[in-house]
Amino acid sequence: MSSTDTEALLRETLDHALAYLRSSAERPVGVPCDVESLRARLAMPLSEHPMDAQNVVADLVSRATPGLVSSVGPRYFGFVVGGSLPAALAAEWLTAAWDQNAALYKLSPAAMVVEEVVSGWLTEIFGLPSTASVGFVSGCQMASFTGLCAARGEVLRRAGWDLEERGLAGAPPLTVVLGEEAHATIYTALRMLGIGRRQIVTVAADAQGRMRADALAKALGGVSGPLVVCAQLGNVNTGAFDPCEDIAELTHEHGGWLHVDGAFGLWAAASPALRHLVRGAARADSWAVDGHKWLNVPYDSAYAIVADPRAHRAAVANTAAAYLVPGDRGERDAQDWVPESSRRARGFAVYAALRALGRSGLAELVERTCGLARRMAERLAGAPGVAVLNEVVLNQVLVRFAPRGGDGGGDADAFTREVIARVQRDGTCWVGPTVWKGQAAMRISVANWSTSEADADRSVDAILRAARS
Ligand SMILES: *Cc1c(COP(=O)(O)O)cnc(C)c1O
Repeated sequence: MSSTDTEALLRETLDHALAYLRSSAERPVGVPCDVESLRARLAMPLSEHPMDAQNVVADLVSRATPGLVSSVGPRYFGFVVGGSLPAALAAEWLTAAWDQNAALYKLSPAAMVVEEVVSGWLTEIFGLPSTASVGFVSGCQMASFTGLCAARGEVLRRAGWDLEERGLAGAPPLTVVLGEEAHATIYTALRMLGIGRRQIVTVAADAQGRMRADALAKALGGVSGPLVVCAQLGNVNTGAFDPCEDIAELTHEHGGWLHVDGAFGLWAAASPALRHLVRGAARADSWAVDGHKWLNVPYDSAYAIVADPRAHRAAVANTAAAYLVPGDRGERDAQDWVPESSRRARGFAVYAALRALGRSGLAELVERTCGLARRMAERLAGAPGVAVLNEVVLNQVLVRFAPRGGDGGGDADAFTREVIARVQRDGTCWVGPTVWKGQAAMRISVANWSTSEADADRSVDAILRAARS
């Protein structure tokens, strides 16, 4: 391919991208096609012969677009999904064009120094020790995997067991204590770390889903040996925060390691008005947090932060290959802090997002989306037959709908699911289902930088319409 062909291709690709982004605010938010029609559009035998790159891209756009979820748009409230800040998206494009291997300083000095700088910004934003080490990973599951890997090695080391040398077989039994509302990805991370279900103790949560410190104290009374406790900042349903201060106190009294899953909730630390919610978080030993949710950087981007860099390195550093010797000026080799070796230079988009927002812009993004969640919750709660199930302390809202003349029990479960299905078919906005304390509920999660009050109002109108029809 000649350089003029490459230029024409990238300019045309820009037009495709802009057309998609322009349409994202107005196209139906759900996916109107089913898996069979998508397979029919996309599946084909791999051709024997090459195809012109411009045709490849144009054809990909036309075949794939109907199956894209418009989560970059302003009225997608499913799961916890952010959009892409323009500066972050642009930096992400450059990251692909630069095609840096972010494993080693030698492979990309700029990527390594940018990660170093962003690490400092992140620990400062979250109010964590400036000496903590940061790994740039794909998502919060991998961030928890990394933090818990460091935890596993360190608590075993404290019990006199050298995990790196001896492996897991025959190691002192380790106990992991989780709140009953721990995110599913914690269980996956533990399973990948060779920690089985019988090693996990779950502790009761309160009505908002916060781990109960008194229940933790009681559970810890029955635990001896190496201990890891996981707290959660930002319950995926309610947005609630575990009481980190008490949990840190109890965990450390028992010689344990405290890991915090703060996938989106840790960003509350960026707001002076909400910072109180993460009180005590700085006393933890490791933290997992996403960038692709509330910071609105493109997928994938998350951060594994560990207070003790030694434990972090011992868990995941690449120590094997003789040709990978570190530099003599403390140059950062990113592969020492993440489970991967070669990977994309994730730091550039985070650097761009944080510079574009500044401290005040970040606080404003967090506060504005929480304000929109409250606005939606208040209007919904004021409508007949509609109940908001959670205290809206953050950006998450749980809503339940009772049919007219129903008994508010089983009827409301079926009706709530029906309202969610109607909203999804309508396409004005997208909301997903959940079950909260045994009751069906609609989840509304506001995490997109581009959502306006008008989008929130239009979405509430669509939801109330669905509940009335
Ligand atoms: C989203 C989420 C995760 C998982 O994050 P990924 O980025 O999907 O790996 C973990 N914990 C909580 C609380 C979450 O909201």
